[in-house]
Formats: sequence, structure tokens, C-alpha cells
Amino acid sequence: MSAKLIDGKAFAAALREDLAAEVKKLGITPGLAVILVGEDPASQVYVRNKIKACEKCGMKSSEFVLPADAPQEEVQSVIDSLNADADIHGILLQLPVPDHLDSDTLIQSIDPAKDVDGLTFVNQGKLIAGDKSGLVPCTPQGSLMLIKDVEENLSGKHAVVIGRSLLFGKPMAQLLLAENCTVTTAHSRTQNLEEICKQADILVAAVGRAKMVKGEWIKDGAIVIDVGINRQDDGKLCGDVDFDAAQENAAAITPVPGGVGPMTIACLLKNTIEAAKAA
Ligand code: NAP
Repeated sequence: MSAKLIDGKAFAAALREDLAAEVKKLGITPGLAVILVGEDPASQVYVRNKIKACEKCGMKSSEFVLPADAPQEEVQSVIDSLNADADIHGILLQLPVPDHLDSDTLIQSIDPAKDVDGLTFVNQGKLIAGDKSGLVPCTPQGSLMLIKDVEENLSGKHAVVIGRSLLFGKPMAQLLLAENCTVTTAHSRTQNLEEICKQADILVAAVGRAKMVKGEWIKDGAIVIDVGINRQDDGKLCGDVDFDAAQENAAAITPVPGGVGPMTIACLLKNTIEAAKAA
């Protein structure tokens, strides 16, 4: 069997078009502010892409670039002023921030109504409580859309999520639980990972280790979502799943790149529009 390719790039493009149409009808211009501290090249690319996507969608975006040695108070005062700015509906602090900054304090100081990354305790709590008024972290939200595009009814499926980060693994597990999956969360201390993966109807890998999930770990007919982004020796990107081998068993699988990645920005736009509508 050869798996259906889950085309996240095409799905995200269609979603962005729908969002642009929604923005036109909205009557207000949703505004996203992105804060970048330092000059990490990867972060600069991510921020640029976010700003570009915002503008293409008809939204307003502002970028706040601070030097790598900016003190906590300076970053905090940018967040405080954006919290108070009625034209800004979404605030995103690009992570990671330099080590001298207390990122938890900064993140938790973002107004939950503008927390488009879904990382404040209020939004995390709403996700766990099943309160739909919260903002859901973008990458897991986008991953769930891709899964549901393959199979609408996930009730009773065994979903295995490898990774338990606040940004991805934990919210992904909550979203799958809300879809009535039986969810197993695996992490670096998990024993018998291979045996656990072999039971997965839905396997989501978010570790950051190139091709650690082997083809024979994939159950026949599984949906495989590969969140990992790893740079190989030849400079090319690959995921956490050994794609070529896994597609022999899987029913559907995301490629890297072109799978989950494009969904993150599309869902960031979606969250900013949701925040603007709620404001
Ligand atoms: P993270 O915070 O580093 O978390 C990695 C998780 O993997 C941790 O929970 C860790 O377990 C677990 N882990 C590490 N080694 C393991 C092993 N040998 N077996 C099983 N689990 C293991 O990373 P993250 O932010 O969640 O991101 C994960 C990957 O997804 C990265 O490659 C990142 O670049 C990618 N990502 C992509 C997008 C996108 O837009 N496409 C967005 C977010 C992340 P412990 O908790 O026990 O340490």
C-alpha cells in the first residue's frame, strides 16, 4: 500500500483564501503584532513569513524588533503597550527569546484575548476545560484540521502523540481527546515506544529527531502527522518519521516540508481573526 499524501501546503492556501474573504466582510481590520528579540536567522524568516501572510490576507501587521540584549523591562513594556492598543488583536512573542529573558513571565503577561499562540494559562485552561472561547495553539490546531480532512470521525481511535511540549504535544493530545480519541502521550522517558506506536490509528510525531519513527512502527492504515523539522547533513529538511518507509503502511501521511508547517501560519491568521471578532 502507498499512503495518500496529506498536502498541507494546498490545504493552508485554501484556508488562507477563506480567511481573506472573511476579513473583507468583517468591517474591521484584524491587527497582529509580532515581537522579535535578537537576530536569530530562523526566527527572522518565521517572522517575515508571518508578516507577509498577514498582509496578503488583508490584515494589518506590525513588527517590533528589539536587540538581543534588550532587558526584560523593555520587552515587557512593548507587551504592555500592545495589550492596551485597541487596533492590535493578536500579540505573538517569537520564541525562543534570548536566555537572559524570563519568557514565561513575558508570555503570561500577554492579554489572553490577544494570545494568538494560545500559551497563556487562561487559554491552556480553556482548552482542557473544552471552553471553545479560548485561542488554541496554531500548530496542533492545524494538525487536527489535516487529520479531520482525512477522517472526519475520530471517535474511539487510538491516537499516539510523541512529544509533550506546551507549544505542541500537550495541546495536540487535548484536541484529540476532545475528538473522543483514546490518547497516549509519549516522551523521552517512554518505554517500548515502538510497541506503542504500532497501536496507533493516528500517530503524531513532534520530537525534533530526524527519522526516529521507523516504517515498521506504523500500523497498517494509520494516519501519520509529522511535525518535526530537522536539517539533514545534505542541507535538506526531513521530519521525525522515516517517510519513505512509513508510507508503505500508512493510509495517509504528511510530508516534510509541505505538511504541517504551512498550517501553522494559516492558523495564526485564523486566531487573529477570531481575536478581532471577539474584541
Ligand atoms: P520540544 O519542546 O523540544 O519537545 C520535544 C519533545 O520530544 C519532548 O516532549 C521530549 O520529551 C520528546 N522527546 C525527545 N526525545 C525523545 C525520544 N527519544 N523519544 C520520545 N520522545 C522524545 O519540541 P517542540 O517545540 O514540541 O517541537 C518538536 C518538533 O516539532 C521540532 O522539530 C520542531 O521544530 C517542530 N515544530 C514544528 C512546527 C511547525 O510549524 N511545523 C511547530 C512547532 C514545532 P521530554 O518532554 O521527556 O523531554
